[in-house]
Amino acid sequence: MYKCYLCGRSDTALLEGYVKGVGAVLLCPDCWRRLAEENKLLAGASGGCNCG
Ligand SMILES: [Zn+2]
Repeated sequence: MYKCYLCGRSDTALLEGYVKGVGAVLLCPDCWRRLAEENKLLAGASGGCNCG
């Protein structure tokens, strides 16, 4: 059973996100949006410096 990395929800669709310092995780839409707003999600390989 897959669960949200942050809140543990498993009753909703989960999105894969890549959290800085953590790696690839599964997130519910609410947590995914919150991390995105806090700029904690890596947005793929488009034009970013991958150093650091
Ligand atoms: Zn969640």
